[in-house]
Amino acid sequence: MANTIWTIEEFTCAGCSMNYTATREEHAEAHSGTFKCSICSGVVHTWSGKHHFFGWEAVKTKPPVFGRRWAGAGG
Ligand SMILES: [Zn+2]
Repeated sequence: MANTIWTIEEFTCAGCSMNYTATREEHAEAHSGTFKCSICSGVVHTWSGKHHFFGWEAVKTKPPVFGRRWAGAGG
């Protein structure tokens, strides 16, 4: 079997700041491709060369904390 080198890389969508991870696989032949954000359809990453990216996954980040601003001084 040929040696296969996989590395996980992380990308951030420039459009909506969504984070994604993808597995980069080294190849002996050139590949090219594009991954588009599933949320805003912006291009997250474009690649070409002797590697390929697959297994794109959105990174589940903690939801923003909407501070507990219970002013309690209702009106
Ligand atoms: Zn996006």
